[in-house]
Amino acid sequence: PNVAAAQWSPNGGALGQADLTQPSANVYGENVFSIAVQRQRLPKGVFKQLEATIAKGEPLESSLADAVASAMREWAMERGATHYTHWFQPLTNTTAEKHDSFYGPTGDGNALAEFSGKELIQGEPDASSFPSGGLRSTFEARGYTAWDPSSPAFLLENPNGALLCIPTAFTSWSGEALDNKIPLLRSMDALSKSAVHALSILGEPAEHVFTTVGPEQEYFLIDEQYYFERPDLVITGRTLFGAKPPKGQELDDHYFGSIPERVLACMMETESELARLGVPIKTRHNEVAPAQYEVAPIFENSNVGSDHQQLTMQIMQNVARRYGLVCLLHEKPFAGINGSGKHNNWSMGTDTGINLLDPGATPHENLLFLFFCSAVIQGVNKHQQLLRASVANAGQDHRLGANEAPPAIISIFLGADLEKAFLAIESGSGDAATPQAYLEMGASVLPRLPLAGGDRNRTSPFAFTGNKFEFRALGSSMALSMPNTVLNTIIAEAIDDLAAKLAGKTSDGVSIEEAVLDVVKANWVENKRIVFSGDNYSQEWHDEAETRGLANLRQSPDALPWYVAPSTVAVFEKYEVLSERELESRYEVAVEQYITTLNIEAETAATIARTMLLPAAVRWLETLQKVGIAKLLDETAGLVDEFVDRIFVLEAANRDHPEDGELIDEAKYVQTTVFEAMGSVREIADKLERIVPDDLWPLPKYSEILFIK
Ligand code: ADP
Ligand code: MG
Repeated sequence: PNVAAAQWSPNGGALGQADLTQPSANVYGENVFSIAVQRQRLPKGVFKQLEATIAKGEPLESSLADAVASAMREWAMERGATHYTHWFQPLTNTTAEKHDSFYGPTGDGNALAEFSGKELIQGEPDASSFPSGGLRSTFEARGYTAWDPSSPAFLLENPNGALLCIPTAFTSWSGEALDNKIPLLRSMDALSKSAVHALSILGEPAEHVFTTVGPEQEYFLIDEQYYFERPDLVITGRTLFGAKPPKGQELDDHYFGSIPERVLACMMETESELARLGVPIKTRHNEVAPAQYEVAPIFENSNVGSDHQQLTMQIMQNVARRYGLVCLLHEKPFAGINGSGKHNNWSMGTDTGINLLDPGATPHENLLFLFFCSAVIQGVNKHQQLLRASVANAGQDHRLGANEAPPAIISIFLGADLEKAFLAIESGSGDAATPQAYLEMGASVLPRLPLAGGDRNRTSPFAFTGNKFEFRALGSSMALSMPNTVLNTIIAEAIDDLAAKLAGKTSDGVSIEEAVLDVVKANWVENKRIVFSGDNYSQEWHDEAETRGLANLRQSPDALPWYVAPSTVAVFEKYEVLSERELESRYEVAVEQYITTLNIEAETAATIARTMLLPAAVRWLETLQKVGIAKLLDETAGLVDEFVDRIFVLEAANRDHPEDGELIDEAKYVQTTVFEAMGSVREIADKLERIVPDDLWPLPKYSEILFIK
């Protein structure tokens, strides 16, 4: 019986808060200490200085901090807050918080609400348990959190109160980044500098260039009753067992179908809560798999967009519970059913309002576009392996290259029109085969560029979509910060490379139009191997990619070492985004997380197999022995024997991790021996699921989990 579903009514979730109306404009951002609130509540001088500080990306003077802190506290307490937290992103893809009360003792036995500038600017959580990959030795376990004024503080509310969250960076005492925010901010600065410099050569002065991000997030919503009956889901986030249901996603009847009412109500409450937090959610729809959905916001600058993405994942999971649902963000919760990814839409915009990846309406804008688009092509080609590493995790290994997600081979899809334009530049023909949508560029040497967005190619890991690139290989559970840090850094490098070449030509007296075309042409010839417009899922592409010399780093242990490859260290050190030590720490943490994840899965699988599934199968065997139906008895006895053997193999694999050697060797052991042992136990379990009576089988089945909404 589907208790939770039955209890739910459209008039209220468990907390009676369901609101089936759209978020209205007047609640949008009401839980954010926004610029508007700052203007209202801060003394004029303080507000001006704070704004200037944020605009320049400089640290806040401590004289200002007290005034800001006290305004922030008053605002938060008026809205019911009792505690505050420095909200930060350790190297785990999640966010961390330690709550402190606003109240401090006054000495006369009373308590007074206080929150000083110092407490706003810096916190000192006991950080010894966060992964640091060797950056922090235990005798100096302290880490510091430092306020990031460029991402606004916000309130997390529940019926019992509210928490003031202050987005912060997290560093060691020696200033090394222990989090994912610091490198992202550094990479945004690096890209801004490079792009501003290039723009000055291109005759388009700007003071600042922002990178932008708009993530499309896929997820599953399932009934919480099934979730709790599934230790594999509870412990690992994915099902380690489960036979394919008679109906999967073959009928394509779920994609873009109408959204079940309970789910829609849950989405609406999620969205209205996010709206109050200033997260601009724009679209929602069903995805390909049953019980799978997608949500996407309007894009924002990369720093705020990344923070908002973390918040979105958190709120989605919280609100789901009020509806008797559980939100699964795992990359592959169900075998044989599409997994969940995240599309990272990325672009660069100037403070003067130009989107540098928008082909634009004038010849001048098209020149800018060709230049910056070329930089993307170069950066992605040169650092394809690093990009692949930035989206590696254990969950992704089930998805990438599995005919549901882009392959592990990174390539770029430009769309037929744009590709033709580059080919025309290469051949010097100046005029591409001419679909009407081409735009006259004026100068006769320039080809015409497509006005409309690129075509659709759902199989490409990195696609141009009209006015932005879409990095489609992220996993659904991932933070945006690392992939975007990589993108910003490698494209900053490419912009500088192309800008230097451009400057060389213009100083020789070549016109800017000709110089850009020369640079774009040479860059295209050098990097065009990364451009591919066909079916990325096909075997032909895998073969061709190999002849083109493109990397195919199939699984995490193959990809992660690129975090510390010489080409990575060189570009990250040059742009002061991460030092070699900081890169090594990220590498180590990622490898360790991979091992830990698989180890937990394998131990869970062994336990479930031995203590839940095997006993069920044995009970059925006993019954068959009593009844004596030989055919069924033989079949079941054979499977049970095989099951026991394979469980023993898995248990041995779990015991026998290599003790010495590099961490990556243990990762490879897990990737092969442990992973295979787990799969072979599952194979038999899924066969048993089909023959053991339903009332004996202890796990809810895919057909229940996926189709009861
Ligand atoms: P689709 O990929 O389905 O065509 P949309 O055009 O709606 O979807 O855009 C998808 C995502 O791309 C949205 O989250 C949107 O905010 C984001 N996006 C649009 N323009 C930009 C941009 N300039 N920079 C970053 N993200 C962008
Ligand atoms: Mg998209």
